[in-house]
Amino acid sequence: MPNCDLHCHSTASDGLLPAVDVARRAAANGVDMLALTDHDDIAGLALARTVADECDMRFINGVEVSIEWEGQQVHIVGLNFDADDASLNAGLAGIRAGRVERAQRMAAELERVGIHDSFAGAMRHAANPSLISRAHFARYLVETKVCRDVRSVFDSYLKPGLPGYVEHRWASLEDSIRWIVGAGGVAVVAHPGRYRFSARELRRFLDDFKACGGAGIEVVSGSHTQEHVAQFSRLATEYGFLASRGSDFHGPGESYVDLGGLAALPDTLTPVWSVF
Ligand code: AMP
Ligand code: MN
Ligand code: MN
Ligand code: MN
Repeated sequence: MPNCDLHCHSTASDGLLPAVDVARRAAANGVDMLALTDHDDIAGLALARTVADECDMRFINGVEVSIEWEGQQVHIVGLNFDADDASLNAGLAGIRAGRVERAQRMAAELERVGIHDSFAGAMRHAANPSLISRAHFARYLVETKVCRDVRSVFDSYLKPGLPGYVEHRWASLEDSIRWIVGAGGVAVVAHPGRYRFSARELRRFLDDFKACGGAGIEVVSGSHTQEHVAQFSRLATEYGFLASRGSDFHGPGESYVDLGGLAALPDTLTPVWSVF
């Protein structure tokens, strides 16, 4: 089975490495097919593709769209779309526009618990300012020794209900799938094991996703346990979804799984790359 890694990040969003370095590292790790899937931005694709071509690694256009479904933040990965598609680009630009204003509200909330200047501090960590994310705030709070690592920042400040978390309106499930499919791509549920869905909510979400034209689900992911792999393999089969595999690599030292370093997809599933 080819080593396909269809989920990772560069400095075009909240990754630590520039897109060219992500592609070089993937090739060095033996990846046969790579998709770069930055949050809400596709600015890294062209450069990553140039490097992938030089390294004889197949490259697939990707993006990870931030959406809100019934009050929860969910991520939809788009794969193998036309990066010049006008509606997709306009949709992503709309999500990015909301991020700066959200970051200002996050900084105001953090100020109330005695953490100063976090907007400017987080921005210094963001190579792409329009993609300012909670990950950049987390790096600033580690830098200023408020917390010892990124994970503890999330656990103390940045999850729902905590002092630095603010509500935000992301795209809708329907719009995200319309943009991806309209641009000729495949919509994939990112890391389904990470959402706090009840069993019934999960099924309702998957029903909605499928009804809107979603066709794939990440089964093997850097944030999945073996139990998740078994659970989402069953659901992929039941729903007739294509199965995807992606590390969600953000950078050395910040991700458990390196590019291409995942277990294989169970061979009973239809890999999403079979349609590329
Ligand atoms: P945002 O898109 O601004 O809401 O930021 C979400 C990003 O923060 C994710 O894409 C991850 O990179 C990171 N993140 C979310 N939850 C955690 C966590 N518990 N620990 C570490 N990083 C996280
Ligand atoms: Mn991220
Ligand atoms: Mn995600
Ligand atoms: Mn991701």
